[in-house]
Amino acid sequence: MPVPNLQRPGFAAPLPESADVVVIGGGIAGVTTALFLAEAGVNVVLCEKGTIAAEQSSRNWGWVRQMGRDPKELPLTIESLNLWRDIDRRFGIETGFRETGITYVCRTKAEIAEFTAWEKYGREAGMPSTLLDSAGLQKLLPGIAAQYTLGLHTANDGRAEPERAVPQMASAAVRLGATITENCAVRGIETAGGRISGVVTEKGTIATSSVVVAAGAWSRLFLGNLGLDFPQLKLLGTAARIESDGAVPDMPVGGGDFSFRKRLDGGYTIAQRNANVAPVTPDSFRLFFDFLPTLMTSWRELKLRVNGQTVSELKMPRRWSLDQVTPFEAIRTLDPVPHAPFNRNAVRNLTRAFPAFADARLTHSWAGMIDATPDAIPVIGPIAAVPGLYLSSGFSGHGFGSGPGAGRLMAEIVRNEKTCVDPAPFRYERFSKTAKAA
Ligand SMILES: Cc1cc2nc3c(=O)[nH]c(=O)nc-3n(C[C@H](O)[C@H](O)[C@H](O)COP(=O)(O)OP(=O)(O)OC[C@H]3O[C@@H](n4cnc5c(N)ncnc54)[C@H](O)[C@@H]3O)c2cc1C
Repeated sequence: MPVPNLQRPGFAAPLPESADVVVIGGGIAGVTTALFLAEAGVNVVLCEKGTIAAEQSSRNWGWVRQMGRDPKELPLTIESLNLWRDIDRRFGIETGFRETGITYVCRTKAEIAEFTAWEKYGREAGMPSTLLDSAGLQKLLPGIAAQYTLGLHTANDGRAEPERAVPQMASAAVRLGATITENCAVRGIETAGGRISGVVTEKGTIATSSVVVAAGAWSRLFLGNLGLDFPQLKLLGTAARIESDGAVPDMPVGGGDFSFRKRLDGGYTIAQRNANVAPVTPDSFRLFFDFLPTLMTSWRELKLRVNGQTVSELKMPRRWSLDQVTPFEAIRTLDPVPHAPFNRNAVRNLTRAFPAFADARLTHSWAGMIDATPDAIPVIGPIAAVPGLYLSSGFSGHGFGSGPGAGRLMAEIVRNEKTCVDPAPFRYERFSKTAKAA
């Protein structure tokens, strides 16, 4: 595992013959859904093709933030932060969540304009965010270079430890009665009379009437085999762990071109902020017009590349029958190659902002495939065309922070209960142009 210290408790429960609910995918979306279902006494089984949290959910920066979120998903993000604050006590685990606050720092006119607008938005949304001048920044973040003249600090945002949070949540789900099986790819679903009747895995079939697809970057492929078109593209995010003996703040800090977060293991997770690789794949062409508006606003942050993912997806079958080995078994863990220049730039930009990082020693680097929807908001809800089928996916680079909220919401929707937030912004059918049969 390129991600340092990923906890691997090991989940090898034998597959039961039946379950009330089957969850596909052991990232934060699937695990928190299983956790809240198990807590409510539902008989839930989670199948993970590789290892719990080995894809995006352990590779992220570990930021848990509400600042800068789309207003449509802000209530979910706030609900999620509330859950993070209590999750360790509630389930007897240690996710590493700390309410440290998060600060953005500005150097250029464009950054100042961006974060000043965010402050207005935060104020209107009732967030405890404050704009800081140079003196305020020096006080909050001692050692920051003088060219950073404005900061935006949100006191109740925080951070957690991706390499341990989701494995620990999965262990808690098992203690509450969930069944979790790793190395168990789901190949597809069975229906009877138009609604879900079972889930076919590489290890056998589970009879069930409810299935939650939480397959991260694989959700589009999985649903495509069912004739459902979920508009989702992948972006390659690169990050690294460094060590430094310098006196650097504990709080996560983001500038226009760097980010860092103190880790509980003493190092820092760093990245070049606003920089991702967009692999050119067949889906880039199929979904070009769906993503065009996003592309037009964020093209400066993207490097289009023909790379290993291009080759992999060109060769990947898009249709299979349930007795065939699927791409989910062929690729147990999506482990893309990091884009090394981003990490070099991150160290350089970081050191410019905080000269105490001059002694930074890079110990690990890794990448993860971020799954994105055209409006950068996830789908959390039923797929009306297939009664009993639900989707929780498309978290567009911020699903770690909103994961517990998403899990709670999905569990409530599956149980047909009153929901903690309005689920309307997360409807699958909002992609009505594409939600037709593929
Ligand atoms: C570099 C990077 C930095 C990020 N930083 C942040 C951050 O600071 N804050 C934040 O909030 N978010 C961040 N994110 C985004 C966040 O990590 C994701 O939004 C979130 O983890 C998505 O969770 P998920 O459960 O949907 O997907 P994943 O974690 O990718 O999990 C999906 C799982 O489904 C499994 N699966 C797929 N198909 C099948 C199948 N057929 N059968 C069985 N299992 C299957 C996969 O193996 C995988 O384990 C970052 C992401 C990256 C890559």
